[in-house]
Amino acid sequence: MLRIGCHLSSAKGFLAMGKEAVNIGANTFQFFTRNPRGGSAKALDLEDIRNYLSFAEENGIANILAHAPYTLNACAKDEGLRKFTFETMQDDLRRLEHLPGTMYNFHPGSHVSQGAEKGIELIAEHLNRLFEEEFSTTVLLETMAGKGSEVGRSFEELRAIMDKVDKREKLGVCLDTCHVFDGGYDVVNDLDGVLKEFDSVIGLDKLKAIHLNDSLNTLGCHKDRHAKIGEGGIGLAAMEKIINDERLRTLPFYLETPNELPGYQKEIALLKGLYRD
Ligand code: FE
Ligand code: FE
Ligand code: ZN
Repeated sequence: MLRIGCHLSSAKGFLAMGKEAVNIGANTFQFFTRNPRGGSAKALDLEDIRNYLSFAEENGIANILAHAPYTLNACAKDEGLRKFTFETMQDDLRRLEHLPGTMYNFHPGSHVSQGAEKGIELIAEHLNRLFEEEFSTTVLLETMAGKGSEVGRSFEELRAIMDKVDKREKLGVCLDTCHVFDGGYDVVNDLDGVLKEFDSVIGLDKLKAIHLNDSLNTLGCHKDRHAKIGEGGIGLAAMEKIINDERLRTLPFYLETPNELPGYQKEIALLKGLYRD
């Protein structure tokens, strides 16, 4: 069974997201832990979470993915922003203890003018400090497009971060198809080669989730502009290969395409139709 969903707005709570997911044919979903631009999170509604958990169980929703606000930067030059990033992620992880089985995805960061090596060091330090507390959630590093000074464009950079983290078992990777394509990995003509490279650099056992997005731009452009499935540089034939690949097909797929709910519903139906059960 294809495990697929899309990014949903968390404004109305977990039960509302669960119902939305079912309505559009999804069996999982992604959500921002708080306003994507950062700021404080609403108080946790434990009753909503209880209701959501039983709804999810009844309706076969699983593997949901929390996404950290994208303004966080674990390797910022500014110490204040690093502190804010730490406190936000720590708070997110504390809250996620109420949602067992949820994974937590974040953008490693942008080193600005400090250089990738310093960036990697700061991100690893940040994770080591986060993991001083005992959390059950797996934290995912997202593969980035390499726009500006983003850390995590190459598999080697992600591996370098992981190597410096003591509790490596707490970490995984979320592969964003638009980002890796924009980052220069040819998932269109050489998916097999890209996955072999991932396996030799990071290890496929660390790959826990896929952000399934087409790209508005071309291979290696370092842009990060998402396109609808089949309407960008990656194209539908490559998407079909990606969701059916033996190494990927059992992972959860999350759409972050430029769509409202009806558009997501169509893409989910399209991809389910292409999935070989
Ligand atoms: Fe992301
Ligand atoms: Fe993504
Ligand atoms: Zn993106």
